[in-house]
Amino acid sequence: MKFGKSRSAPHPKPNRLESFLVRGALMIAMLVGLTTGLSGYGFGVEEQMRIARDSLRSHAASGQVHIVEIDAFSLSKYNDWPWPRQLHGRLVDQLGRDGAQMVAFDVDFSARSNAKSDQAFADALARFGGSVVLPTFKQKSRSNSAVFSENLPIEPLRAHAFLASVNVTPDPDGQMRHYNHGTVTSGTPRPSIGAMLAGTNGHIGSEFRIDTSIRPDTIPRHSFADIVEGRVPVSALRGKSFLVGATAVEMGDRYAVPGHGVLPGVVVQAMAAETLIQASSNPTLGWWPALLIICGAALVALRIRNGASNSLLAGISLVALLGMPLLLETMRWGSLEIVPALAALFWLTALNMAVAAFAKLRVARMEDAQSGLPNARALEQSARPSPNIAVVAVELKQFDEITAILTSDERTDLMKRVVDRLGVGIGAAKLHILKPGTLGFFISDGEIQTIIEEVEGMSSLFRAPIELGRRSILITPAFGLAFGAGKATGELVLQAGNAAARAAVADQRWALHSAEVASETDRALLLLADIDHAIAHGEILVAYQPKWDIKAKSIKSAEALVRWNHPVLGPIPPDEFIPVLEKQNRLDDLTLHVLDRCMADLRLWQAGNMNLAVAINISAPLLADTDFMAAVEERLTVGDSLAALLTFEITESATVSNTQTAICALEKFRSWGARVSIDDYGTGQSSLTYLKSFPADEIKIDKSFVSRMKQNKGDQILVRSTIDLAHELGFKVVAEGVEDRDCLALLERFGCDTAQGWLIGKPMPAAALIDLIQSNHVPEQAKMRKAG
Ligand code: C2E
Ligand code: CA
Ligand code: CA
Repeated sequence: MKFGKSRSAPHPKPNRLESFLVRGALMIAMLVGLTTGLSGYGFGVEEQMRIARDSLRSHAASGQVHIVEIDAFSLSKYNDWPWPRQLHGRLVDQLGRDGAQMVAFDVDFSARSNAKSDQAFADALARFGGSVVLPTFKQKSRSNSAVFSENLPIEPLRAHAFLASVNVTPDPDGQMRHYNHGTVTSGTPRPSIGAMLAGTNGHIGSEFRIDTSIRPDTIPRHSFADIVEGRVPVSALRGKSFLVGATAVEMGDRYAVPGHGVLPGVVVQAMAAETLIQASSNPTLGWWPALLIICGAALVALRIRNGASNSLLAGISLVALLGMPLLLETMRWGSLEIVPALAALFWLTALNMAVAAFAKLRVARMEDAQSGLPNARALEQSARPSPNIAVVAVELKQFDEITAILTSDERTDLMKRVVDRLGVGIGAAKLHILKPGTLGFFISDGEIQTIIEEVEGMSSLFRAPIELGRRSILITPAFGLAFGAGKATGELVLQAGNAAARAAVADQRWALHSAEVASETDRALLLLADIDHAIAHGEILVAYQPKWDIKAKSIKSAEALVRWNHPVLGPIPPDEFIPVLEKQNRLDDLTLHVLDRCMADLRLWQAGNMNLAVAINISAPLLADTDFMAAVEERLTVGDSLAALLTFEITESATVSNTQTAICALEKFRSWGARVSIDDYGTGQSSLTYLKSFPADEIKIDKSFVSRMKQNKGDQILVRSTIDLAHELGFKVVAEGVEDRDCLALLERFGCDTAQGWLIGKPMPAAALIDLIQSNHVPEQAKMRKAG
């Protein structure tokens, strides 16, 4: 059972190559037809078909011409041949009495016998009431001569008879097919005996085809002896014409006639006469009219270009081709040769069938066997509507597990329902089956954001389970998207499939193929899509940057800085993904993850008797997130009191934007026992006096001021006055971005409490931090002492 909008047609539309081949097939077929016609190759088959048609049309002779046979019976009766001529005279006399109209002899009377016999015969001829016809023979004067002479009956006989030629010429293959209206010898025209018997006068010298559908056995025959002795009833003979000739085998004079075997010459003459009497000779029309008709039909088929009607047309052509000659011959309009046309039709059909089979195979290669939908190959090879188009792959999660319990019909049904649902979302796009359980389609141009919204929309179409009989099946699609103008479609299909697989594994609704996601927004979206998966799979790590307690001259704390090792994009700096997550309100999980990591490390360090403190960055929007705040509270207020070792860093700007909420949140942190730090101080617009009212324990002077101190006197003054004022207001002071000893020396002079920066240490894994602390004198530290 199949479904789908593009149910494969039994006769797929030909592509360009196939159209070309079809045209080529027509040319070849016509060429075959022409060569067959011109070479006469099909002659044997042509003849066989004609004989077959003859037997279909076979009909009786008119009965007007009777044969008087000089047969074995008569020969035995009257002894040896040649008979005395008065015997012929007796025949003529008898036929005269019987009321014969004409008596024609196919018997040689060109030599004299004895005078008495000859005269008796001549007298009989003279007595005969109708017409007598005697034969003439045209023959070469000498066997090596080109001159022909005519043998005439002897003088006394000639006086009372008409003369007619009895020459017949078989075709080169020995078959007797044609007969003449008469011959001309040395300028003397002589009608043929057949023409004479038929009483017609066609153009002497011209030929006609003997109608071989006349059954020779229907030509009435009488034994010579029976006539002479009056054994044939007069009624059968009256008014008829008689042809007298030898039928006895020993008399020779026999010819092969198509469809009738070997016949005595006299029968051939009689058939020729019958042909003229019935006017049933069919003029030959040649082979080209039939070939032309096939050519025309083929051209029509080429226009229709529909496999089904083409087969029909071929069938009709065949029937017409076979039937037409029969009709023409029956109507006596002519005789058509059809073998060249048949050969052309055969080749045309065979080649077209081959091309059609080829096309079918091509389409099958492009089709998913189970659903009948186009497959991945089809998607790869289909013309992209625009170079910027994206490919979307949809992996149906746990498809194998789900379908394992279904029957084949249910599976097809389920797939159909999935396709229907997706169809709602994809509009005019065409769905393809990339592999079992994964579909694919093109999605239109547009902002990546819009496309993702569309995909989200499609994803929501699957919230409700699919009802399949009594079963209720929840299908969860995972979408994968791949973009890229210059890329081959095949590459995009592969990438989209991979992205979908990744989304499925990561339990995400969708994923972008990332390797070449170039633009910032694309990257941002990719990050958004991947973050949950990253947290769950340990791609998010926490690095600690040591903080130097200036008075104690030791590392007392560290700042937790998040690190993301993306499997495809590599390490991603927090400055890139934090703002993205922040904008989408997706920072809560990440921050809690960092907090959990830090608390776990704190516990470890405590167990190792190390009282390190940790600072965690909290982004502004989280302060207003009650769920997040509750989650933090839960972590800080249960069990061991780790809160005292935690500092929450909030950027200065965050406190300004939503003061009341921020203040409230910071107060909560402090009430749970944690410290609060104002991060990046100096980058915002607030003055310290404004911050005075803030529930904070320390301020962190932004690294931009600290690192510029050495060169910029103004920054020096700013840092110094900030430290002084902060202290006056009861805040501790941390300086960020301490990169050299001079900087640290200045800070020490200014009375700063804590220094953080590359001089002390870069952000590092927890283990490295512990190593650093336990080594107790890092090189920088030694140098610092000297400087101090
Ligand atoms: P930040 O809180 O101001 O963190 C200090 C940044 O300055 C860190 O960059 C650190 O590597 C860098 N830094 C430290 N010492 C020096 C130095 O001597 N010279 C210079 N040039 N830079 C130094 P990082 O790790 O790339 O973090 C960037 C920002 O990402 C952080 O700025 C913070 O706002 C944010 N961030 C990092 N982790 C988290 C987190 O867990 N949660 C939140 N909400 N934000 C975080
Ligand atoms: Ca910070
Ligand atoms: Ca900072």
